[in-house]
Amino acid sequence: VSGAKGLAVLGASLAGETVGLRCEGGLIAELGPQVTAEPGDETIGAGGAPLVAALVNGHTHAAMTLFRGYGGDLPLMRWLEEKIWPVEAGLEAEDVYWGTRLACVEMIRTGTARFWDMYWHPEATARAVRDAGLRATVGGPLFGLGEDTAAAESTALADLEALEAYAALGIDRALAPHSIYIAGEKLLRWTAALAAERRLPVHIHLSETEKEVSDCVAAHGVRPAAYLDRLGLLGESTVLAHGVWLDQAELELIAERGCTVVSNPVANMKLAVGGVFPYPAARAAGVAVGLGTDGAGSNDSLDLLSDLKVFALVQRHAAGDATAIAAAEAWKVATGAAAPRLGGGGLCVGGPADFLLLRRDSHELSLGELESDLVYAASGSIVETTVVGGRVLMRDGVVEGAAEVVARAAERAESLGIGV
Ligand SMILES: [Zn+2]
Repeated sequence: VSGAKGLAVLGASLAGETVGLRCEGGLIAELGPQVTAEPGDETIGAGGAPLVAALVNGHTHAAMTLFRGYGGDLPLMRWLEEKIWPVEAGLEAEDVYWGTRLACVEMIRTGTARFWDMYWHPEATARAVRDAGLRATVGGPLFGLGEDTAAAESTALADLEALEAYAALGIDRALAPHSIYIAGEKLLRWTAALAAERRLPVHIHLSETEKEVSDCVAAHGVRPAAYLDRLGLLGESTVLAHGVWLDQAELELIAERGCTVVSNPVANMKLAVGGVFPYPAARAAGVAVGLGTDGAGSNDSLDLLSDLKVFALVQRHAAGDATAIAAAEAWKVATGAAAPRLGGGGLCVGGPADFLLLRRDSHELSLGELESDLVYAASGSIVETTVVGGRVLMRDGVVEGAAEVVARAAERAESLGIGV
């Protein structure tokens, strides 16, 4: 409603209680049974729908929705070399924009409010996030193995400058060296220095495959986490994607440095990495843990709620222990509550107004404990209304403008030669 003062959600169900929630200035201003709408508020009657915090996707390459269903039956290196890299070489900012818009439609539909992204043309990613109304931490991937890192450095600096204008819109910047096998020691040291100087988060793939670990030990004499620590890259604002092969000493080091590890179980299984992120050991060591989908090229879905089930199942299965992770704990991982640095964390007065209303008439949520149903019975289709920063991005299952986004993304994919 134009000119509305705030947003009031009335008659929602929260932990068995009927509550109201008011948002103002993008924040939750009031939450509780006594909350009423104020004059001028846009109002949503929730009709008893469950109210939950929105999800945080800790690792994406959003624009890779363009690559969904393309070459996915190939092994990793053949998939990259024969399918992905040749097309990415010709990728334009508009491709990234529409691919990211498509990803945003999917994330809004399935309840994700914020994501951590690493992809080419990051300014186009930020523009798409802004236009979609979501939040993100965005960084362009840094590539460069040798001593000549000038081109990578100047691209990174230009990207940072282009992204600066988006900070006020809840779109943060990160430095995103791709991995220790694509960014060399010189570039990684430069990244560490710049991150410290400008207080920027670092987002990097780490310990995804066993070969990455053995190559690192052969080249540097230490495992990947110790190698990053030697270069000054393990800090409180470092987000490590995957962490499949981390050993006990690495987990303890990561916990001590305050880094976050984002597990991407579906992408790991699709690419058949052959291992499972050691969540129980990470939790015991005190590591902050989040959940991610990775790019749609290697998942192929951005439905984090579906991936949450896989995460919980694979942890129980790998541990041979049905108590390895409780449903309520898994839910915390998906909402960012187990990794404060990711920027999510739940519903509280004064916190960001990022929340979901779930389908009140759904068979998935009709019986049993809500968190258990959310982890094991539901998928993203359970989300009825998505609110981010106090703005309603989906109401009753409808995302405005979604059809155009789907059509434009398909056009871009076709022009890249990967359309149907
Ligand atoms: Zn990735």
